Amino acid sequence: MEYYKELKMSREELLVKIQSMVKASRFQHMLAVEKVAGELAERFSADIYQARLAGLLHDYAKELSFMEFEGLIDRHHLDESLKSWGNEILHGKVGYLKIQEDLGLENQEILQAIERHTTGHAEMTVLDKIVYVADYIEKGRNFPQVDKARELAAVSLDKALAFKTMRTMEYLIAKKEPIYPQTLETYNTYIKFLKEK
Ligand code: GDP
Ligand code: FE
Ligand code: FE
Repeated sequence: MEYYKELKMSREELLVKIQSMVKASRFQHMLAVEKVAGELAERFSADIYQARLAGLLHDYAKELSFMEFEGLIDRHHLDESLKSWGNEILHGKVGYLKIQEDLGLENQEILQAIERHTTGHAEMTVLDKIVYVADYIEKGRNFPQVDKARELAAVSLDKALAFKTMRTMEYLIAKKEPIYPQTLETYNTYIKFLKEK
């Protein structure tokens, strides 16, 4: 069994902890993201250990209550305006701090990739891109066009991430949901990669 030095716990202990935080289906999703994030890291020459750990942990805070997010925002002096967003945005933008608090994870590259996994960012690292894309294409995903996303991810992280962002924005607009500014910035930076032949 793997031992995570920076978390001071074994994989077994970590999996038990994650399972105490999220329902079984979400736990399976996190394991699937871990796996494909590792594969993407291999394909695109990134750090496989970091990609797998970020993938495994990315939705750790998805089931926190709004009050818990408010507490994290206050304790860490984050911008109050975050409180106007729901759990969909907060589980990444604020949730990474819960991982830091609970697990003692201090690896800033991993924490940043988790922070950015829902909205992306105008300037993403390869690790950020891998977690963002892995979340979208893991084997349990079965929305229309997931195969298209997987094909893009086989050739280019930029194309795949642009595709996720475009589809997410289309979906949000159709539902009359607000777009988080960073989501739009991700779209503006990366959409050009989908236009190139
Ligand atoms: P999941 O946690 O594995 O379900 O995946 P994500 O973290 O990528 O996305 C969580 C949810 O956030 C999805 O339902 C997205 O549609 C939603 N989401 C992504 N970007 C935005 C945004 O800019 N605004 C809003 N309102 N929701 C968003
Ligand atoms: Fe998420
Ligand atoms: Fe996810």
